[in-house]
Amino acid sequence: MELKPLLRSLVPGDFAGLIADVGAPSYRAQQVKQWAFVQDAMQWDQMGNLPHSLRECLSAKFDLRGLELQERQVSTDHTRKFLFRLRDGHTIESVIIPMKDHATFCLSTQVGCAMACTFCATARGGLVRHLEPGEVIEQILHLRADLEDHPVPGMGDRQFNVVFMGMGEPLDNWDTMEPALQSMTATDGLAMSKRRIQISTSGPAAGLQRLIASAPGVGLTLSLGGSTDEERHKVMPVPGRTGLKEALGLAADYGRLAGRRVTIAWVLIQDRTDQPDQAKRLAQLLKGHNFKVNLIPLNPLDDSTLVPTADPAVLGFQKILTDAGVPTFIRASGGRDIDAACGQLRRKRQ
Ligand code: SAH
Repeated sequence: MELKPLLRSLVPGDFAGLIADVGAPSYRAQQVKQWAFVQDAMQWDQMGNLPHSLRECLSAKFDLRGLELQERQVSTDHTRKFLFRLRDGHTIESVIIPMKDHATFCLSTQVGCAMACTFCATARGGLVRHLEPGEVIEQILHLRADLEDHPVPGMGDRQFNVVFMGMGEPLDNWDTMEPALQSMTATDGLAMSKRRIQISTSGPAAGLQRLIASAPGVGLTLSLGGSTDEERHKVMPVPGRTGLKEALGLAADYGRLAGRRVTIAWVLIQDRTDQPDQAKRLAQLLKGHNFKVNLIPLNPLDDSTLVPTADPAVLGFQKILTDAGVPTFIRASGGRDIDAACGQLRRKRQ
C-alpha cells in the first residue's frame, strides 16, 4: 500500500507554496499551518474555517494522522509510556518523564534501530524503517495533549523538553530530523526553544558531520559505553566502528558551533562498563573538552544476562570522574515497573 505523506511532514515554510499550487488564496497558508501545528487537528473536518473544496484537495494529497494510540501505561513514579501504531501497522514508543518544573518527552526517530547495542531492547529486531517528519511531530502533539488532559500532580508549569532518546538512531535519519527540528523550533511551527531539545546519538561519523553542517543549535548527547575502541565495539558494535577520538572530536566541534556543552551518556553494566580503569581512561579522553557525563545504570532486559552496576560501584565510578574534574551526574532511569527502557514495551507486544 502506497501511503500519502503526512501534512505535518511539511515544514512551516512549505505551506505558502502548497497553497499556491492548489490555487487557493495565500492567507489560507497561515490557517492550514495553524491547524497543523497549533490546533493539532487530527481530522480534516475540524478545519472549520477552510472551504470544503480546499479540505478535499489537501486530503487527496496528504494524511493528517499518522499515529493511533495503542497502549498507555503509567508508572508509580508518574512516568508515562505510550505505544503508537503507525499507518503501516508498525509500532513505536514515546515516554513522558515528569521532572520538577517541566516534563521531558522522550521520542522515537526510527522503527527499530540498526546500531545493535547489546544492552538495548530496540536493537533486537534490527531496523524496520525511518520515521517521517510528521510521525516525529505527531508524537509531541499526542504527548502534549496527554499532559494537558492529565496534568502531573505537583508539577510546576506545563513546559516540556524533548529528548531524542527513544527508539532509533536520530543521526542515521537526518533527512527526517532536519525538517522535524525546523517545525519544532519555527515560530509558526511548535515554537519550541532550541534549549529545550536534545539529540542523543551513538555517534556515527557521517551523521555527526551532517549535524555539524546543518548546525540546528539543539543540544547533543553522545552515548559512549567504552573507553577504548575495542571496549566500545563490544558493547555498541555498529557505532563502535567510528573511532572514539573521531566521535568525541566531532561532538566537541558541534558543541563549540552550537555554543552548548555536550553530554556524554555512559550506561553502567556490571563488569562490562563499570571498571575503575574505564573511568580513569574516560576521564583522560574527556580532558580539555567541555563535556559533562551522565551515568545511566542499566535498565535490565528480561532476556539478557547483563546486570546493572550496584550503587556503591556507581558512586565509585562517578568519584573517579569528578576527582579528575569532569562534571558527572547519575541519572536514575524512570518507569522500571512499566518497561520504560527504550523498546521494551514494543518488544513485549510483538
Ligand atoms: N541511538 C541513540 C538514541 C537512543 S538510545 C543513542 O544511542 O543515544 C538513548 C540512550 O539510552 C543511550 O544513551 C543508550 O545508551 C541508553 N539506553 C538504551 N538502552 C538502555 C538500557 N537498557 N538501560 C540504560 N540505558 C539504555
